Amino acid sequence: MKKIALEEHFISQAHLDCLRARTDFPRLATVDDGSGNKVERLLRTPTSSQVYTPRRVSQLLDVGAGRIAEMDRSGVDMQILSMTGPGVEEFDHATGTALARDINDEVADKIKPNRQRFAAFATLAYGDPAAAADELERAVTRLGFVGGKLNSHVGGEYLDERKYWVLFERAATLGVPIYLHPKEPPQKMLDLIAPYPTLMMATWGFAADTSLHAMRLIASGLFDAHPRTKIILGHLGEGIPFWLWRMDNHWKKEGCRANRLPSEYFRDNFLVTTSGMFTQQTFLCVYQVLGADTMMFAVDYPSESNDAGVQFIESVPICEADKAKICHGTAVKLLGV
Ligand code: MN
Repeated sequence: MKKIALEEHFISQAHLDCLRARTDFPRLATVDDGSGNKVERLLRTPTSSQVYTPRRVSQLLDVGAGRIAEMDRSGVDMQILSMTGPGVEEFDHATGTALARDINDEVADKIKPNRQRFAAFATLAYGDPAAAADELERAVTRLGFVGGKLNSHVGGEYLDERKYWVLFERAATLGVPIYLHPKEPPQKMLDLIAPYPTLMMATWGFAADTSLHAMRLIASGLFDAHPRTKIILGHLGEGIPFWLWRMDNHWKKEGCRANRLPSEYFRDNFLVTTSGMFTQQTFLCVYQVLGADTMMFAVDYPSESNDAGVQFIESVPICEADKAKICHGTAVKLLGV
């Protein structure tokens, strides 16, 4: 069965060079691993970092033959590419906006020979929301991109704040979705997690941050003002589908600017992908809550393995018609790929 994977990452050489040259966070630094070996570490914030192996760097840089060979081996027909974090929104606005443009041009050029295998979400320096909206429009109308990708908050600000709505408005006008991707939580939340570094990122921090971000978008009334907005969440909805009934049950109008219930927005304005969540129990819970029309396949390459993602989706015990929607049908309809 044809598989289109929605949350697959790359890095551009220009962005890599920028991260290596920086002295501020986030940056890439070569450090001693404690046993005399030099390793590259991605220093995200003063309290969170991760090893950046040469293999990871080469997998991220390759949006050509090597990646296609790996997709063929596993059975991934098409990847919708987005730039890995840390994103350009971390840099000053002028640097970020210029770099976003270069990255979008670079990836558009690289995937041009393989339009059947790749499409892309735009890289956006959304700390400057008007410039990011313009870049999204340029990427969609001039470069053929299929949406934009946000790495959650920018400097601790969430995008339910009014000044950012221009970006969602533009995406809705263009008829493209925004992928709301996790990053390490804002410093205030990181401080609360700090005694247990293992909780900072993919184990808990990513979902805690991104689900809060999504719920703030819902409570803000954004989707009443711009009802055609489509947000994609990875990781089977970052936990939100599990809580929808309880949120509806206790939803109060006080202190909330939204007209409808959380589950209504979640079904109309959100789609979720299977990125990095290869477990049947959780998948079936989300499938029962949302149904196949707003679920899509994703791996989260190269953080997760294409083999694991493909084997997982092939194993889920649902009817073939719904599996086809999740593997490719919904993505084709949403993205026009
Ligand atoms: Mn990802």
